[in-house]
Amino acid sequence: MQRVAAVPAKVEQRARELRQLIDRAAHAYYVLDAPILEDAIYDQLYRELIELETAYPSVIVPGSPTQRIGGRPAEGFLAVTHRIPLYSLDNAFDWGDLVAWEERWQKLRPAESVYLCELKIDGLALALTYEAGVLVRGATRGDGITGEEITANVRTIRAIPLRLAVDPPPPWVEVRGEAFLPTARFEALNRERAAQGESQFANPRNAAAGTLRQLDPQVVAGRRLDFFAYALHLPADWQPQPADAVSGVTPTSQQANLALLRQWGFKVNPYAQVCPNLAAVQAYYSHWSQARLHLDYWTDGVVVKLNDLALQQALGHTQKSPRWAIAWKYPAEEAVAEVLSITVQVGRTGALTPVADLTPVRLAGTTVTRATLHNGERLAELDLHWGDRVIVRKAGEIIPEVVRVLPELRPADAQPYRLPEHCPACGQAVVQAEEEAVTRCVNPHCPAILRESLVHWASRDALNIEGLGERAAGLFLEKGLVQSIPDLYNLRVEAIASLERWGQKSAENLVAALDRSRQQPWSRVLYGLGIRHVGQAIAQILARTFPSADDLAQATVADLAALHGIGPEIAQAVVQWFQEPTHRQLLQRLAAAGLQLHTQGTDEPPATPQPLAGQTVVITGTLPTLSRSKAKQRIEQAGGKVTESVSTRTSFLVVGADPGAKLQRAQSLGIPCLGEAELLHLLTTTSLPHQPGDSF
Ligand code: NAD
Repeated sequence: MQRVAAVPAKVEQRARELRQLIDRAAHAYYVLDAPILEDAIYDQLYRELIELETAYPSVIVPGSPTQRIGGRPAEGFLAVTHRIPLYSLDNAFDWGDLVAWEERWQKLRPAESVYLCELKIDGLALALTYEAGVLVRGATRGDGITGEEITANVRTIRAIPLRLAVDPPPPWVEVRGEAFLPTARFEALNRERAAQGESQFANPRNAAAGTLRQLDPQVVAGRRLDFFAYALHLPADWQPQPADAVSGVTPTSQQANLALLRQWGFKVNPYAQVCPNLAAVQAYYSHWSQARLHLDYWTDGVVVKLNDLALQQALGHTQKSPRWAIAWKYPAEEAVAEVLSITVQVGRTGALTPVADLTPVRLAGTTVTRATLHNGERLAELDLHWGDRVIVRKAGEIIPEVVRVLPELRPADAQPYRLPEHCPACGQAVVQAEEEAVTRCVNPHCPAILRESLVHWASRDALNIEGLGERAAGLFLEKGLVQSIPDLYNLRVEAIASLERWGQKSAENLVAALDRSRQQPWSRVLYGLGIRHVGQAIAQILARTFPSADDLAQATVADLAALHGIGPEIAQAVVQWFQEPTHRQLLQRLAAAGLQLHTQGTDEPPATPQPLAGQTVVITGTLPTLSRSKAKQRIEQAGGKVTESVSTRTSFLVVGADPGAKLQRAQSLGIPCLGEAELLHLLTTTSLPHQPGDSF
């Protein structure tokens, strides 16, 4: 008798949790057209369930969401049984998945074959039935076997011919394709809904699905859906007339099917391409992962199909999906991870940054194990509990962050996480200023703040002292060799060389680097002091206007705020810093140590390259990571000017979530629109420093 391995209770429990959550999400998505989870998160949870079921087949229950082709048909429409089931597609998330898929099908049918790659349109599959060349029925996919009959609505879609351009027509034909809402119409629809106080559609796919489920075809017609046809099923014995088909014979490839569909009056996506091997598929995928951003409809991957229809036929399908096709999805920028622990970092300005240590997840092409939780205020908003599963996001160069907690998956007895009331580095009580989201340690002797201050002082854009990083700074503080920045200049080679992991040569190099730093100009010294809000560009503006530390110490808030690029917040921070007696002492000691606290004749370097110099920028909507004021500050530091309204003089518009009318105006004036990632790219290519609070 075969023994079945017992399933650990934890696995049973997890499978149950996953089934419940996936069912709830699928209902919200397929039936209500109002998803409660991000697609990438849904996919990840679904995959986790498949992995559990593969490892422990006995946890599979008949109603498991993995045993179903798609969603359930909604109520309110007539149910129709599809002549040929509409299968789902298996997903590939990386190159390895694609290679494994090729190996799988080749094992079943050892054959050479070329692929046909198509864009995966983010819409809703429709099944269209034509009898004697006339559209008689349009249906949604539903659960793949049974869909909803929505013929009246389908007839409103202009890209769907009501009569086929073929004579004589086949007795029946089934055409499949994707109904979708072009991006501009999707955005306009959401704006209208917002104006009427209605809920927004999460994406064009839900908007298209919601539209086609309208009971009033007038409403559907007004939404102006579009449609790309991509599949064709004909009676097996039907032969086209020579004039009606590309070659005069029944099509034998997917490519020929597309050509026939086009000829019969359908709109077919123009970017399908024959790829002779997987390397060519990869090139197609890479190209479209970027180029898709310029399309006026959403795509979420590419569909790779075997081009040869006979081979497709021979391979058939599994219970859920054809073996001859796979959807290669674009990398997710969001994923679910479990919080293993939370570390609180203390920055140079004393800001406490909670950071979540996570189970590793692949995001935007990298493995992420830590994500910032920003600050105490954000933590409270998130309502994070110990052991929570969270949604982590990483887009482009942005630091990974926790964007949402999944309370549905929270362990029953989990306790809420609170920031400590004492600094984890020095133990002193922390302070939460009312006007700030940030909690700070205000102990000037806190070892973490001192260490970060030393590291900043030594950084490349400040005094550029090679060899003085986190570890060295921490060690010097710990051994009592250094208590503040000026102490660095009293360090002796012998004292350093006697430390663990230091030798004579490295100690000599460090002392020489410290010596060289005495020649660095006043603007760098000013930047190195780490005054709040004084980044590299601001330090240069200040150093140019105030040729010495003494001059700057005399400046009033009004003097400073009058300078271009310096707002009242920065002005206030500078004045406050110079009022602090310990800071005046610090300056005296630095002067005594031989550092440049004033401009040396003409040796002040020219300002940092300012790529946004002369550019006028407008911001609309909520940016994913930067607050409006922070974005403005960064743009101004890069030499740009931020204005409120779009005009012909606007250089570009930065667009966030829920953009206002500025977006439409910019589009009508042909003004370039950038996302936050592109803005950050523009800013970081100048190597502008991150501002206090950005770093963690
Ligand atoms: P799918 O969207 O991954 O792929 C199949 C679909 O791709 C087809 O039905 C068709 O509509 C579409 N398609 C687009 N272009 C195509 C082309 N050129 N050729 C063939 N098909 C093409 O699979 P699915 O089963 O429809 O839906 C599953 C997806 O739905 C998941 O990936 C998930 O992201 C999403 N979903 C999300 C939630 C949520 O809560 N966010 C819930 C359920 C499902």
